[in-house]
Amino acid sequence: MKKKQLEMMLEKLEGFGRPSFYREQYATPASVAAEMLFLAAMRGDLGTVCDLGCGTGVLAIGAALLGARAVGVEIDGEALAVARRNAEKLKVDVDFVRADVSRLDLMGIDTVVMNPPFGAQKASAGDRVFLRKALQTAKTVYSLHNLGSEGFVRSFVKPGTVEEIYRIAFPLKRCFEFHSQDVKVIEVELYRITCESVC
Ligand code: SAH
Repeated sequence: MKKKQLEMMLEKLEGFGRPSFYREQYATPASVAAEMLFLAAMRGDLGTVCDLGCGTGVLAIGAALLGARAVGVEIDGEALAVARRNAEKLKVDVDFVRADVSRLDLMGIDTVVMNPPFGAQKASAGDRVFLRKALQTAKTVYSLHNLGSEGFVRSFVKPGTVEEIYRIAFPLKRCFEFHSQDVKVIEVELYRITCESVC
């Protein structure tokens, strides 16, 4: 499958019905998800994949479309219901689990792919909790962050190592009232982090 084909398939997916501002529910745009997953596929990282805070499932479903065995973990039942419908729509098998990431204990995962909440709101666990859990779960982690997160990520993931940082254009759609433009393109950073023995 080509990257553009994956993007077009992921564009068909249903988004958050009523995105929760407090849980920082921003769906990863199809173009960003396709880019992330192709980078992971090129490195042979799409064996058994877990999407932490999977929301409506775009990363987990995209990974499954590229041949991964995929698991999606999400705290919000409504978002998970959408994720399940989305997987059915694209006829892929994904194990969706309703759980709080901070209480999770998953075995047998090769790679975590995630677009974690940044932690600006109290109701979401925030990127520290997600990063910690990701490194406890898998030896390889792909995680999206705001521009300029390098210092924080590099020191936080120790003894894990940041292997690569990719800059990705992220079309931010208007989904909350205070966003004034319909689409604004920002840049985000995708980190590939490894930790030899699961950290
Ligand atoms: N991964 C999705 C959604 C990103 S938004 C995508 O790429 O489109 C972040 C998601 O993390 C939201 O769906 C939010 O509900 C979820 N979340 C926030 N705190 C969580 C927690 N403690 N445990 C599990 N999921 C959580």
